[in-house]
Amino acid sequence: MAALKIGTAGVPHSTKARSTQNGIKRVAELGLECMEIEFVRGVQMKEPTAIKVNEIASKVNVELTVHAPYYVNLNAKEADKVKASAKRIMDAANIGSIAGAKSVVFHAAYYLDNRPKEVYEAVKKELIEIRKQLDDQGNLIHLRPETTGSPTQFGTIEEIVKLSTEVPGVYPCIDFSHLHARSIGAYNTYEEIYQVLDFVKKELGVAALEQLHMHLSGIDYGDKGEKKHLILNESDMNYEAVLQALIDFNVGGWLICESPNLEEDALLLKETYEKLQK
Ligand SMILES: [Zn+2]
Repeated sequence: MAALKIGTAGVPHSTKARSTQNGIKRVAELGLECMEIEFVRGVQMKEPTAIKVNEIASKVNVELTVHAPYYVNLNAKEADKVKASAKRIMDAANIGSIAGAKSVVFHAAYYLDNRPKEVYEAVKKELIEIRKQLDDQGNLIHLRPETTGSPTQFGTIEEIVKLSTEVPGVYPCIDFSHLHARSIGAYNTYEEIYQVLDFVKKELGVAALEQLHMHLSGIDYGDKGEKKHLILNESDMNYEAVLQALIDFNVGGWLICESPNLEEDALLLKETYEKLQK
């Protein structure tokens, strides 16, 4: 069985004295196995803290991933905005790597009024450059563009997987809830989730499934896609179908829960995952 680790998007709510370090310890106490460090409003963590975070995570055996700032658009019209976006991803990758994170996830771009094909090429060009800089620094952290929740955002499963086939060091982050919201209700049956994983396997090989970065939570959506995250059991997200497909494809890596109740739903996912395996 590939090792699938389940954990929270950020510091669990039940953490006393909120900090990344205490959050990691709390994740371990709860019996969860990974945590995403949320740099969504900017990378504020400094190197000495990242070093401590790395030590604590190794000690309590919690694996880390990083979410880069939301304020990223590799398809911005203005060159300085593209540059600032690339820097935000680089900063998250650099501090994340020092903290011991294996993967950095980000929302790559907005289509604006460009054709998806052109946006794809713009994102690809920037990711090649970011990857080159990281490689030059010896930073092997996985760059993970995410499947996004709104049709105005770059990030269909096809786009994300194609980038992963064409840019070495780029891998997919599959947000199942975003796929569901973006398509206004699809990607919510076992067959549909099976097709997604089968597509990843065919395009990227079984190794991509053995180390996959994923997001899952309840989600509210309308005709423009994602509205907000919900508690799993207060949404129509068919998480059991997702978990069953993950088991059947022997998927490993990190399944990060972004529900508003964080650790409660992460624990629900873990319990359900274990129950379905029996
Ligand atoms: Zn995200």
